[in-house]
Amino acid sequence: MFGAGDMMRTIGLIGGMSWESSAEYYRLINQGIRARRGPTASASCLLWSFDFAEIEALQHRGDWDGLAAMLVQAARRLEGAGADMLLLCTNTMHRVAPAITSAVSIPLLHIADPTAERIRAAGLRTVGLLGTAFTMEQDFYRGRLSERHGLEVIVPDATDRATVHRVIYEELVAGTVAPASRAAYRAIIARMVEAGAEAIVLGCTEIMLLVRPEDSAVPLFDTTAIHAEAAIDRALGGAEDRVPSAARPGYRAREGE
Ligand code: GLU
Repeated sequence: MFGAGDMMRTIGLIGGMSWESSAEYYRLINQGIRARRGPTASASCLLWSFDFAEIEALQHRGDWDGLAAMLVQAARRLEGAGADMLLLCTNTMHRVAPAITSAVSIPLLHIADPTAERIRAAGLRTVGLLGTAFTMEQDFYRGRLSERHGLEVIVPDATDRATVHRVIYEELVAGTVAPASRAAYRAIIARMVEAGAEAIVLGCTEIMLLVRPEDSAVPLFDTTAIHAEAAIDRALGGAEDRVPSAARPGYRAREGE
């Protein structure tokens, strides 16, 4: 039982990129709400799920404007349907995050921000980044980690980046989790640790399906789980909303507060 003051915000998920990871988001968000609110509680959420074959074709053609237009349309539809916040359930498509942010009036929770905050809170600074070639090589993601959050970002060499990218597009988004690919990722992680990585960012929302903490000598930061957690915090009125409680409408000081 909870009162009006405990109302839950509605999470808008822009997903299907791929649905393998969107399913994880849905599961993690609902499990998190249940853990905090009780066994019958579940998330108030909306999901827009794309056909990833279309998305992938545009990505590999470099049509980021076309992709931005599609994602902006989904964002507006979710806002119109009642979403209070948006999550883009993919690291790669954050390349077009600025277009979404300027098209809607609800917040887009950028996947890199809570990830970097957790890394900093753990006292770590140099990270190894795994993701699609777009995420590992372009500035929209690495730049955000370094310029906004002061992290040092290491990426695998060109051969290893090609392997990481291939496994994502040929296996993980297609629901294939192969032991040989897990071993390949383990070796790539070890090489980044050797190059100085104090933590590994699983900067693709499907990698958590393949790699486990025991595959790495340093802590793994799983963007899917961290992003889902950030949405739960906001849906329930997270720390940043709770701090100035005296300023909230309806707040009544109780003894000891
Ligand atoms: N889900 C992946 C990511 O987090 C890759 C799929 C995509 O390109 O959107 O980057």
